[in-house]
Amino acid sequence: MTVAGDKIDYSAMNPTETALVIGGGVAGMQAALDIADQNYQVVLVEKTPSVGGVMAMLDKTFPTLDCSACILTPRLSEVSRHPNIKLLTYSEVTEITGEAGDFRVKVLKKARKVLEDKCSGCGDCVPHCPIQVKNEFDQGLGYRKAIYIGFPQSTPLIYTVDTDNCIKCELCVKSCERDAIDLTMEDEEIEIPVGAIIIATGYELFDVSKYRRLGYGRFKNVINALEYERLINASGPTGGNLMRLSDGKIPKSIGFVQCVGARDVKEGVPYCSRVCCMYGVKNAVMAKELQHENVKDVTVYYADIRAYGKGFEEFYQMSKKRFGIKFIRGRVAEINEDSKTGDVFISAENTETSELLEQKHELVVLCPGILPPRDLKELADKVGLNVGPDGFIAIEHPASNPVDTNIPGVYVAGCAESAKDIPDSVAAGSAAAMRASITLSKGGAS
Ligand SMILES: Cc1cc2nc3c(=O)[nH]c(=O)nc-3n(C[C@H](O)[C@H](O)[C@H](O)COP(=O)(O)OP(=O)(O)OC[C@H]3O[C@@H](n4cnc5c(N)ncnc54)[C@H](O)[C@@H]3O)c2cc1C
Repeated sequence: MTVAGDKIDYSAMNPTETALVIGGGVAGMQAALDIADQNYQVVLVEKTPSVGGVMAMLDKTFPTLDCSACILTPRLSEVSRHPNIKLLTYSEVTEITGEAGDFRVKVLKKARKVLEDKCSGCGDCVPHCPIQVKNEFDQGLGYRKAIYIGFPQSTPLIYTVDTDNCIKCELCVKSCERDAIDLTMEDEEIEIPVGAIIIATGYELFDVSKYRRLGYGRFKNVINALEYERLINASGPTGGNLMRLSDGKIPKSIGFVQCVGARDVKEGVPYCSRVCCMYGVKNAVMAKELQHENVKDVTVYYADIRAYGKGFEEFYQMSKKRFGIKFIRGRVAEINEDSKTGDVFISAENTETSELLEQKHELVVLCPGILPPRDLKELADKVGLNVGPDGFIAIEHPASNPVDTNIPGVYVAGCAESAKDIPDSVAAGSAAAMRASITLSKGGAS
């Protein structure tokens, strides 16, 4: 078992028996588990302090409305306890050289300033920290201290000192009975020989403030969909109470605006982000589920509803019939605010009736499209990987080699290749794991 803090000699690992997975979201975790279960070694490198990716931030999952954390938490624990998986969180790959069967990878393990073998994750240090900053895990809607874990199921459960905000008062150091905090800790460079590599670096959301006319960043009651996920999440900043952060009021009327930044050749990206229709419908349903007495009107403004997956069409139809969600086909032209009440007005054209509408909502949720992470090109260049015109990792052939890249021995999983939902990301993780295991079993040939 990889106990946190075990001194592992990474440089002595056998490349023909070891794979590297970059990115610890649901796709990377699946890939790591499937390779590890075949008795190969896996080094899983995640740049944030915890594995889990975006799925850890979600409340429920479409189309079944299963609790996201309930599905993910056992996976987090499996990954951290698997004897063949070495977790390098808060770490980034800086260099990759070599070829299939014999890659050399350099990883920068950033200093957490907390000793992994001593921290028990008790959190006793937290109340002593005088610094409070916005918690990025809660999309900046909640707060954390300068010594922190992002969320309760953080894996590994080891605190991290945010050196950008730490004032070195050492109150946390003095409060720790296990002497686990060391503010002098330095970054470490680790070299690892591996035989196969999986890129599972996920995605970023389109920055909806780019559409100034939609009011995000200007009006408090215009939020994005990931902020909404945190707002309705029991472990989020309001304890799962759907309310406006501007005044704590339960919004009686909510508008969801689909395709923000997606399928927009002029200001966004030309492709369809594939998950936004269903996460928009899911979140509309959740408003009614959570506050059916108070939320009287939920309207989704959409371009097309793309309910392509298993159970998706049924879920969409159910949202209308059982929950009374209203759907208006039409791109939203602009959003304005009543500065006295904080209510927001959506101006749109109903493209089915050609009617021009202005509808008042107490909260508006913009549903952004999905983009490649901004540092993906830099990572791709380190290995010589091709990226497509959409900026995601290019694959050899969508029909016959959907997880193979242009470099033998390097595979791609999940949203690093294109926007995908969780089931497709998990399936791609398993597929990439199988391709990587074949490479290892053949000593480098794929
Ligand atoms: C608002 C919203 C709601 C959604 N709801 C649903 C839903 O209900 N059902 C559903 O099926 N799908 C849903 N999705 C889609 C879901 O989030 C994705 O399918 C899933 O997160 C993809 O997993 P992934 O592992 O590919 O990527 P991610 O979850 O993005 O994970 C990638 C990981 O890689 C890490 N990483 C990135 N770059 C590097 C690097 N250079 N080095 C090391 N690590 C790196 C990241 O920190 C992250 O941990 C939703 C998406 C959004 C935006």
